[in-house]
Amino acid sequence: MKIIDGKKISQEIRKELKKEIEKLKIKNVIPGLGIILVGNDPASEIYVRNKLKTCKELGINAQLYRFTENNSEEEIIKAIKELNVDINIDGIIVQSPVPSCFCEDKIISYVDPKKDVDGFGIVQLGFLLSKQEQKLAATPLGILKMLEYENIDIEGKHVVIVGDSLIVGRPLSALLLNRGATVTIAHKKTINLKELTRQADILIVAIGQPNFITEEYVKDGAIVIDVGINRVDGHLVGDVDFNRVFKKASYITPVPGGVGPMTITMLLSNVVDEAKIRSELNGSKN
Ligand code: NDP
Repeated sequence: MKIIDGKKISQEIRKELKKEIEKLKIKNVIPGLGIILVGNDPASEIYVRNKLKTCKELGINAQLYRFTENNSEEEIIKAIKELNVDINIDGIIVQSPVPSCFCEDKIISYVDPKKDVDGFGIVQLGFLLSKQEQKLAATPLGILKMLEYENIDIEGKHVVIVGDSLIVGRPLSALLLNRGATVTIAHKKTINLKELTRQADILIVAIGQPNFITEEYVKDGAIVIDVGINRVDGHLVGDVDFNRVFKKASYITPVPGGVGPMTITMLLSNVVDEAKIRSELNGSKN
């Protein structure tokens, strides 16, 4: 059994990103990220703080736009529209969840698809489904990079994804399908989940249920990727019961230190990719 060290892989990618950012700076391009944060969800506060910190470390110019539930939807949309036309901003993210008094899908729909570095908008999801991938959602992309880093072949493998959310399960299924995997997606209404997951060569779990997946759900030698982040008694645990599953799996990701660090890194990688396009466009104008 091998533990896939998401922290280490992510640090290596960040080193490369830093070099690319240095090169961009020589060409007077500083990658820019606009972050829209609405409300005061404690988990979102932590995620945004981490994103700002990592941006600072890498040399990305992050601008935070904070809104409360007293702001109007129009005010939030106005900020997004300003960021859409700001030539120094390469990516825009709307931190999820947006309080339920607003329509999150409507707000996200105002993000220019070219700057949709989260890849959550309908346009980017459509590109992904039609095999014309552009900006890939950060968590699925992070999982793909982890598998690539460990030289794990996806083609022809049976991947079972438990959880069909728009930010993890659904885009991930398309991403892996595009790479020749046979993909099964399970959700709450799935019957005989255990029988299904036991067929998986690669089992990916994103349900938000602490320690839900135990050894009975896992085939001998399977690769197990745990996306879940759950707080239990002040500790972070995944959706997979690591202690019970790790002996059975050939590879497994820990929580914390697995998929989590990859998500921020791949988001910022999307920002840098867009900044590179800006730099090339600047070059062609000169
Ligand atoms: P959502 O709540 O949006 O979706 C959860 C999905 O899991 C749904 O498809 C739901 O099914 C399914 N589900 C829930 N319980 C069960 C069950 N008992 N059996 C089968 N399916 C089930 O969650 P997210 O995708 O946003 O997040 C999932 C987890 O991943 C969370 O812990 C979150 O914190 C974490 N996460 C971690 C990230 C990282 O970077 N590591 C990034 C994003 C999320 P149904 O559709 O039928 O309701």
